[in-house]
Amino acid sequence: MAKTSTPRPVRCYHCRHPFEISAKAMTVSCPKCSKKLLVEDVTISNTHSVTRLQTCGRIVVKPKGRIIADLIEAHQGIEALGIVEAKVVRGGTIVIGPKAKWQGDCHTPSLTVKLGAVINSGHFVVPDESPGN
Ligand SMILES: [Zn+2]
Repeated sequence: MAKTSTPRPVRCYHCRHPFEISAKAMTVSCPKCSKKLLVEDVTISNTHSVTRLQTCGRIVVKPKGRIIADLIEAHQGIEALGIVEAKVVRGGTIVIGPKAKWQGDCHTPSLTVKLGAVINSGHFVVPDESPGN
């Protein structure tokens, strides 16, 4: 946890508007589209099924975690150590761990796949420098 109050840059995952927030903020509203944004890190340690999981922070899928979603987006990156089943995954740096099982399209500027990871399906765009990333 950051203890300084230095503003940190984030980008709205609804309208892509970039702005700065206080380092301590957990949730904020976008100054442009006024939609709420999750900015904290998300840890998935068991089965989690949602339509969308989006954060300006990081997503970590623990070895026993399983995330099932249409869209997974984490601007600070995704560390997949468990099971990821998605239609589309976008993120900062994505790491697919040695025991991970992955299914879904992947758009990221930087990808690491550890030896032993299982990728069942997915269209990978790396590096993806589009505004969505
Ligand atoms: Zn916005």
